[in-house]
Amino acid sequence: MKNRLSHRSQNISYSQTIEMAAKSRHLKNKGYDVINLSIGEPDFSPPKFILNAAKKAIDENMFHHYTPVSGYMDLKEAICKKFYRDNKIEYKPSQIVVSTGAKQSIINVLLSLLNKNDDVIIPSPYWVSYLQMVKLCESNPVIISTKIDNNFKIDPKQLEKSITSKTRLIIFNNPCNPTGSVYNYQELSTLVNVLKKYPKVMILSDEIYEYISYSINSVTSIASFSDVYDQVITLNGLSKSFAMTGWRIGYIGAPEWVAKSCDKIQGQMTSCTNSIAQRAAIAALESSPDRIKYMINSFRKRRDLVLNMMNEINGFQFNIPDGAFYIFPKISSFFGKNLHGKVIKNSDQLSELILDNTYISTVSGSAFGNDEYLRISYASSESKIIEAFTRLKHFLN
Ligand code: PMP
Ligand code: GLU
Repeated sequence: MKNRLSHRSQNISYSQTIEMAAKSRHLKNKGYDVINLSIGEPDFSPPKFILNAAKKAIDENMFHHYTPVSGYMDLKEAICKKFYRDNKIEYKPSQIVVSTGAKQSIINVLLSLLNKNDDVIIPSPYWVSYLQMVKLCESNPVIISTKIDNNFKIDPKQLEKSITSKTRLIIFNNPCNPTGSVYNYQELSTLVNVLKKYPKVMILSDEIYEYISYSINSVTSIASFSDVYDQVITLNGLSKSFAMTGWRIGYIGAPEWVAKSCDKIQGQMTSCTNSIAQRAAIAALESSPDRIKYMINSFRKRRDLVLNMMNEINGFQFNIPDGAFYIFPKISSFFGKNLHGKVIKNSDQLSELILDNTYISTVSGSAFGNDEYLRISYASSESKIIEAFTRLKHFLN
């Protein structure tokens, strides 16, 4: 039966982050004491004022029907204000498209820009779904590898070397999932100096972890550099910062011609995103980022706790993540070693062995383009983190 599937479907793999989360859920349902450090999902509930806005929208009895494809006008206006307030980017509502999660925003953009065999530059380590979505569009991922010693950041020379006449798009993620790296203004401006020389190369700037940064007060958006404004699609969403993964709200600010195409594609695919979630999103985006500071402070405390506990585990090499809620230790020192009766050959095996023996779920680095690493999410409570790292220490040391 499998070969009756399209090449497109056969060509891509399941999302490893989602698969690991499903595996943890399955073990948990069977009664095992699983601690899920695989999926990047805040354990908080969304703030009360957002929940109240959703309840109010239901009670108003006016928001049950299809919305405009690209989102309610007052939501798009709130998004424009947010972009101006937080990112110093000027967008008009006609440049905004609201979608069913940032994932749909990404595929809308890729389907709008890519033809078969176009090249798309993706710095590695990268978030799992970028590569698979590019493959789904029958385009070619061109990977730029980064190193732990360089905080997993690309430099302008590497970037320029990878651009050719076939390059259509670069996907840039700041703060980065899985490494937690955050580019500062200076570093970004050196990349912008390269990108502005190639006005046909578009830039998808995924800023979904924007508010979750620890050493920089505010993350710089590429579109705020006027030289490349016309090349950039700025992507954001409510999943991470507002702990609203299940509400499925993502959005882009983009040149009007890109936004129009995303609107057209979305109109054929999903019509619009959930109306009540859109009303709640207005409350979220109109509020001051100070109202979610308590979650960011908590992530910072957890990050520091994780760093302390990681120091006690032999064989992990890691750097200090400045943003998002992941740590990405190098684990290749375990390769070739016998761990409780099994010789470790790759990150998949290590992640699996850890899950089977300690009931701690992680995601292997191979999912993110580098097999020498393991991704550990710390979007869990402090007590769970302490328990998880205590188990890891006993198992690995
Ligand atoms: N971009 C990155 C970097 C992510 O980690 C995720 C994971 N959720 C997404 C996009 C997709 O987010 P959403 O839940 O809004 O689809
Ligand atoms: N983005 C999160 C992660 O990387 C959620 C799962 C997914 O969408 O990949 O774990």
